[in-house]
Amino acid sequence: MRVFKFGGASVKDAEGIKNVYDVLQKVGYEDVLLIVSAMGKTTNALELVIKNYFDKSPELSSAVQEVKKYHNQIVMDLFEDEKNAVFAAVNSQFSDLEYFLANNKSPNYNFVYDQIVSFGELISTTILSHFMTFMGIQTQWLDVRNFIKTDANYRDAEVDWELTQKNISKNIKSKILNITQGFLGSDENNFTTTLGREGSDYTAAIFAYCLNAESVTIWKDVPGVMNADPRYFENASLLNQISYREAIELAFYGASVIHPKTLQPLQKKEIPLYVKSFINPLLKGTSVSKGVDLEPHLSCFIVKKNQLLISLSSIDFSFIMEENISEIFALFHRFKLKVNLIQNSAISFSVCVEDKFNNFNELNAILSKKFKVDFEENVTLYTIRHFNDTAAHTVEENKVVLLKQVSRETMQVVTKEI
Ligand code: ADP
Ligand code: ASP
Ligand code: MG
Repeated sequence: MRVFKFGGASVKDAEGIKNVYDVLQKVGYEDVLLIVSAMGKTTNALELVIKNYFDKSPELSSAVQEVKKYHNQIVMDLFEDEKNAVFAAVNSQFSDLEYFLANNKSPNYNFVYDQIVSFGELISTTILSHFMTFMGIQTQWLDVRNFIKTDANYRDAEVDWELTQKNISKNIKSKILNITQGFLGSDENNFTTTLGREGSDYTAAIFAYCLNAESVTIWKDVPGVMNADPRYFENASLLNQISYREAIELAFYGASVIHPKTLQPLQKKEIPLYVKSFINPLLKGTSVSKGVDLEPHLSCFIVKKNQLLISLSSIDFSFIMEENISEIFALFHRFKLKVNLIQNSAISFSVCVEDKFNNFNELNAILSKKFKVDFEENVTLYTIRHFNDTAAHTVEENKVVLLKQVSRETMQVVTKEI
């Protein structure tokens, strides 16, 4: 079996969905499982619905209407005949969403988030599978929540591999085109959970692992994994081959083209991961597999914007040692700050973190009781794997360097724009 993942960008409009059909025509769809994300920026639009819901804002209904309008337009562009079953199927999903909004009693933000945001993937896969059927491909729509079982840690759920393996082994038919949702799972009470933003790549890896798949292909709007994000670096070049180890490093440091959790299950079974262009599906793209670390061997640049640089120093000049550090880390964990770089000296400790959940103010109040806290918001973290002088110069040029750390293969620089 081959597992294909189509992300939001590939299904952002009717043209995109038609293009998925063209890709399948070119590369074949026998024994294929498609993992599909929400269309375009739907997850962000649903996050806005959630915000309005919790704020009890009068904008709630227009936020829902936006999502509806966007999908209805796509459905109309794809299917001429309004009698097509897709209209009723999509309407029924929006009714379920509205029913949830009207009747939910849970005050648990993360729980509510997952119940709402999941409609993005449920609706996109419904539209896509109706379209494939309409085009004459024998298709089976699967509810991923019957396969991927997780704990109840909403918004960042952990997979129960044993149960998931059991569900996947017995219930996936080959020979037809299977279509299911990325990003979602369900807990033991069958409530919807999600695997973390951008988690659809990970879904593809979970299925591939459990199915002993031949390969995973993630279809992108770029030719493959490049040595830098082409949005920020004009001269980015395609990497033909990357080892699992190198790809894990790149994804860990934030090369957002692959979700970091994706590689571990694939590496365990040596299942190759191909990253290819959905615009030129017959080009080779990038292969992540056992083999040479990096071909061609280039410096790789990873940019993480909107970081927070925090420096803690002891108020009484006492040392910052293991005990303090473990306490500080426990706090970062509790407030869900992701640490991307650490540097410490005798009496001070600096970290570059990402505050996705906007918890820093609360954390700062606690830290300030014990430490002198300095922080700089909105800094950029550059990571260069396999750096050289020219590469270092590229990221430092015309910027203020706030912190720099160099190890054998990796250089990290925290900068602020002048
Ligand atoms: P998806 O639609 O699958 O969610 P994403 O938008 O998350 O796709 O990922 C594709 C984007 O990743 C590209 O458009 C590119 O801007 C960005 N990207 C970041 N780092 C890299 C890299 N090293 N190589 C290629 N693309 C990268
Ligand atoms: N739709 C989800 C997100 O935007 C998951 C994904 O696209 O991978 O985060
Ligand atoms: Mg994405």
